[in-house]
Amino acid sequence: MKTHVKALVVGGGAVGTSIAYHLAKAGWDDVMLLERDELTSGSTWHAAGLLPLFNMSFATTHIHQYSVEFYKTLEAETGLNAGFAVVGNLRMAQTQERMDEYMLYASTAETCGVPYEFLTPDQIKERWPLIRTGDLKGALYHNTDGYINPADVTMAMAKGARQRGVLIERKWQADAFHWTGEAWEVTATKMVEKGGNLVPSNEQVVITAEHVVTASGNHAQRTAKMLGIKMPAIPVEHQFIVMEQDPALVEFRKDHPEHPVIRDADAQSYVREERGGWILGVYEKNAPARFEYGVPDSFRADLFQLDLERIEEQYLAMIHRIPSCEDSGLKDDFNGPICYTPDGNPLVGPAPGMQNMWLAEGFSFGITAAGGTGYYLAQMMVEGEAEIDMASLDPKRYGDWMTTEFAACKNEECYDHVYILHHPDEERPACRPLRTAPAYDRQKALGAQFGFVNGWERPNYYAPEGFNDHDSRSFRRGGWWQYAVEEAKAIREGVGLVDATAFTKHVVKGPGATAFLDWFTCNKLPAVGRINLTYALTDHGTTRTEYTIVRLGQDEYYLVSAGAWTAYDADFLRKAAAEKAADFGYIEIQDVTTQWGVFAIAGPKSRDVLNEIVKDADPASVLSNKRFPWLTMRNIELGMCPVRAVRVAYTGELGWELHHPIEMQNYLWDQLMSAGEKHGLKLVGARAQNWLRQEKSYRAFGTELGRDATPLEADLPRFVDLNKDFNGKAAMQAKGIRSKCVTLLIDGPEDADPWGREALYHGDTRVGRLTSGGYSVAFEKSIGMGYVSPEVATPGTRLKVRMLDQLWDAEIVEDSPYDPKNEAIRKDG
Ligand SMILES: Cc1cc2nc3c(=O)[nH]c(=O)nc-3n(C[C@H](O)[C@H](O)[C@H](O)COP(=O)(O)OP(=O)(O)OC[C@H]3O[C@@H](n4cnc5c(N)ncnc54)[C@H](O)[C@@H]3O)c2cc1C
Repeated sequence: MKTHVKALVVGGGAVGTSIAYHLAKAGWDDVMLLERDELTSGSTWHAAGLLPLFNMSFATTHIHQYSVEFYKTLEAETGLNAGFAVVGNLRMAQTQERMDEYMLYASTAETCGVPYEFLTPDQIKERWPLIRTGDLKGALYHNTDGYINPADVTMAMAKGARQRGVLIERKWQADAFHWTGEAWEVTATKMVEKGGNLVPSNEQVVITAEHVVTASGNHAQRTAKMLGIKMPAIPVEHQFIVMEQDPALVEFRKDHPEHPVIRDADAQSYVREERGGWILGVYEKNAPARFEYGVPDSFRADLFQLDLERIEEQYLAMIHRIPSCEDSGLKDDFNGPICYTPDGNPLVGPAPGMQNMWLAEGFSFGITAAGGTGYYLAQMMVEGEAEIDMASLDPKRYGDWMTTEFAACKNEECYDHVYILHHPDEERPACRPLRTAPAYDRQKALGAQFGFVNGWERPNYYAPEGFNDHDSRSFRRGGWWQYAVEEAKAIREGVGLVDATAFTKHVVKGPGATAFLDWFTCNKLPAVGRINLTYALTDHGTTRTEYTIVRLGQDEYYLVSAGAWTAYDADFLRKAAAEKAADFGYIEIQDVTTQWGVFAIAGPKSRDVLNEIVKDADPASVLSNKRFPWLTMRNIELGMCPVRAVRVAYTGELGWELHHPIEMQNYLWDQLMSAGEKHGLKLVGARAQNWLRQEKSYRAFGTELGRDATPLEADLPRFVDLNKDFNGKAAMQAKGIRSKCVTLLIDGPEDADPWGREALYHGDTRVGRLTSGGYSVAFEKSIGMGYVSPEVATPGTRLKVRMLDQLWDAEIVEDSPYDPKNEAIRKDG
């Protein structure tokens, strides 16, 4: 057995096999795959093999689309037919809300170039008369996807991989990983049969590999333990049943092609044909998580006992939808472990805290995602970055606060939410509240409706007593919309208070800190006491993280970045600093996220509120422009609370971020609330803030800012200092401007705003997509931000936005359509 390789892939399911194939295809000629049992013996063998393109995420849709295209090419390459039946996919809607969901989804499909078509109930009936359509509103139809044989496609990828030089070693289990400083030493144990179980033998080898990828499926918890990290990848039971022949179907098929995969989302099920009968797959309630602490030796390519009672409702719904199947008996059943993560996205990318260790775990649509995951992960490993932003799949989107119980419970929730209405304003209830700042109870008592950000509870908006957030959700303007409007107006006209405690905060200090940050970020470093907005770039010149940097001392900095990305930012920062310490000197990094609370006070009256409680020898001038100019930081005292006050406002009004010791949060809250009373202080949530920042064209990390665009493409040249050298500079310049970030005012439908996923047209040509959307209180119409081709990215250009399946007028406006001269932010007093 070979013991030195460039890359070792652990796991021979669909995902690992595809990764090995694509690494070889990308040019790595020394790749080995280890599989503890047989290829496909994990979840892959019993998958139903559906390849749904439907997905609300831009990155995941790209991944799925690549798979669908790639699988079609495998037979020509390998001679193996993977049984890809391109039968199409019919998603039916029983309600108008479901149709609204499909229309929003269609926007994502359109921006990724995935074809779709809307059908009326009559059109469905005409094409597929066995389907009962009387209670349907319509359907969304994809003609390019279908289903495949999961084992066959894996074998075809394995053959393709071997043809490209990949070594596949079966019955070898990776049992330990050790990083030598230059390479991984992976201890592998020969697995043998014993009494029907697969058990380790005494035979072991150590394989040295420059890179390791784990794709261990249901064994993710064991893998995580061996690596000493956390992964919220825990399987849940998933069932499908195969029915005996349906004579009506057999008759229909004599002169008709196969039915598309028929999805009745409102009945939590999918149905497809199988040899004259039907397969029913369900996403039912109460499917339990399994193997929280590892897969037992006795569980190999096994299944669980079918639980028919659990899926009775969906079974009856199938008979309702396809009445001809009522008399078909049950032929076969499958209840297998399907790996999940709390948000349903797999964990793909670099492992936290480790060099050259890559994860590809937690796949619930692993057959659909395998091809694209292999392709994009190989790009990340071989070229350093993928052509799409993979952040939404990054393994570090869950921090160390995550536990087994959280993962298991959230994964069960994610499973039973597969077919709920995926409102863009959806908030899921399981495991909450978990991470709460001290003021949580006070906020809750005042009507806060919370969102879940990286485990934190963060107010989305405030509503009167008795208001039900769940019932207020919509694909159009939800019941909460009016409250967000009032909150946004309060900041523009009076004063508002936003809780921003979830922000990620790092202190970077030490003799190497200044030189390191100067190299690490693209803007000039601020002078002591001042702040700057800046970006850390990837090696490919795109945006990896956005920071507000506060310079606390000559070699001490306070870095504030997005709350959703603490572990993601921390890992990048730490790895870069460790790599550069030899060049720049000692750099100390502390994650102080949970030590500092943050309240943002903003609005023309914000200074008046603070003046009521600020303590200073000359309180009248302490917050004046002279003593506390815009874009500076001052240590002030608000009552008895020491505050690191930063004069910035994400809403574009006069305002301060009040960073305070977390243990004094309630004291500060009470001070602000009582001082604010006479000035009409209003509590404001994240939704209003998100709208307000678009009126100022402030880009947000995760929407406008990410690894698929450079800061120059984000049109932020004022935050890029081309006079200095910084990481990613040459690559950023070499990329040029492929598309450009713009702000648009939109004359949309009366009852809806864009969500930031919609396609943009110039005449008949699709020229880009929105990345953010919302309502502008200043302009009393919809607003959005997005990326368009540079040729049309000029203010005054009229575009169209696709919303609710219609095209609506929009105009590109100058950046910061509200208060372009920043007069409100700079207001003196
Ligand atoms: C009933 C059911 C129906 C499904 N239907 C669909 C569907 O229609 N469409 C779809 O896209 N998905 C479907 N899925 C999900 C799909 O099966 C999985 O997402 C997919 O198979 C995951 O592939 P994988 O390669 O990540 O994991 P697996 O197939 O589980 O492969 C992991 C492999 O790693 C090996 N391994 C683990 N640890 C080690 C180690 N330490 N050393 C060596 N080898 C190791 C295991 O033996 C295993 O072979 C379904 C799942 C179920 C249960």
